[in-house]
Amino acid sequence: CGIVGYVGPRQSQAILLSGLSRLEYRGYDSAGIAVIDAAGDLGMRKRAGKLGVLRDDLTAHPLADGTTGIGHTRWATHGGPTDVNAHPHLADDDRLAVIHNGIIENFAEIKAELEADGSVFASETDTEVAAVLLGREYRAQGGDLVAAFRAVARRLDGAFTLLAMHEDQPGLVVGARRNSPLVIGIGDGENFLASDVAAFVEHTRRALAIGQDEIVAITPDAVTVTDFDGNDVEVEPFEVMWDA
Ligand code: GLU
Repeated sequence: CGIVGYVGPRQSQAILLSGLSRLEYRGYDSAGIAVIDAAGDLGMRKRAGKLGVLRDDLTAHPLADGTTGIGHTRWATHGGPTDVNAHPHLADDDRLAVIHNGIIENFAEIKAELEADGSVFASETDTEVAAVLLGREYRAQGGDLVAAFRAVARRLDGAFTLLAMHEDQPGLVVGARRNSPLVIGIGDGENFLASDVAAFVEHTRRALAIGQDEIVAITPDAVTVTDFDGNDVEVEPFEVMWDA
């Protein structure tokens, strides 16, 4: 339901949590974050309930902070509102984290195919199917997360804003969108991805809209946008005219 991603020099947990709280108006039933820490390990925490439940959990059992992170508030469509079904979903031996807004219409067919090939699923969500598929593609594409994302996006039907990051590639968050919103926030040595500018407007007013069927890769210093076939796409910056 709500999506935020960060890459830059700052510790990301507070940025992700405050971004998610600015998306709360949309309603949600669960929340979670994943962060790649200074040692290059991916940590994840997710809880059914309001953001306060996640915050309390993080206070009681801190997660190592890091400068690359993604955060999600979920409005359950496939699988009830439980801790396990909350996002992020992990794949590739828990080294890849994925969050998702929307509905993947052909998830059952892809899930059956992956299960027949030995994949095991922890949740009942359509999202985890995209995560596991992305993990497989990541291996097949020799560790190219953007190329893997393109292959996955072409395979999925329905509505999705998907964000992913991999332990092997700290400082990179990749996003894709079809029939669901995604915007980039351009900072100074840091960049943001979100389902709505509200999530990053306290940090930057410079934004780029992602078009239908496009993939974006952000690092602290660069933003690259391509279509699902890998062709470069021109993006138009706009200034967010909005009081934070
Ligand atoms: N379909 C996904 C799920 O049920 C994502 C729902 C959302 O947009 O929050 O987990």
